[in-house]
Amino acid sequence: MNYATIKNCDIANGPGVRVSLFVSGCTHRCPGCFNEVAWDFNYGEPFTQETIDYILSLLKPGYIKGLTLLGGEPFEPQNQKGVVELLRQVKKQYPEKSIWAFSGYLFDRDMLSGKLGDLTEYLSYLDVLVDGPFVEAKKNLSLRFRGSENQRLIDIPQSLKSGNIVLWED
Ligand code: SF4
Repeated sequence: MNYATIKNCDIANGPGVRVSLFVSGCTHRCPGCFNEVAWDFNYGEPFTQETIDYILSLLKPGYIKGLTLLGGEPFEPQNQKGVVELLRQVKKQYPEKSIWAFSGYLFDRDMLSGKLGDLTEYLSYLDVLVDGPFVEAKKNLSLRFRGSENQRLIDIPQSLKSGNIVLWED
C-alpha cells in the first residue's frame, strides 16, 4: 500500500483533534472528487512499519482523540492488509482513541456481503464509518463530516451488534 498524506492535527474528519491518513488508490472515480491525485495506487510513499510508528507517535498526546482513515479508498482489497496492521497496533497501544474511516463503498451492500473480502477484523476496530461515494448532485456544504447527502455516518459497533444500520449520533 502507498499513502498520500498524514495530517497530525485534523479537525474536519471526525470529532476532536485527530490524526488522519490518506491512503493511495481508489477505483470509484466520483465526479468532483476532492482528492483525484490519490486515485493512483502508486501515488505517494510506501506504507511501512516506520510509517505506522510515526502515526503511533502522532497519536500519543492526550488531546488527540483518534485516527481517521481516508483516501483514496481505505477499503480497496489491496489496501486492506496495510490498514488492518495499522489498526491492530493503534488499538493495542491506544484502546481509548476512536477510529473513523471514510469509504466510497457501502457498509451493507459491499462490506457485509463479502464482496470486498473478509472484513471481520477490519470492522472490529472501527467506531464510525462514513460510507458511500461523494455525489456532486447531492453535495451539501452544511453537512458535518461528509460531503454529500447520500453519505451515512454509521455507528459500527452498534450496527454489528444489532444486525441493523445504526447511525452515529454525537
Ligand atoms: S471515493 Fe473518495 S477518493 Fe475515491 S473518487 Fe470518490 S471522493 Fe474521490
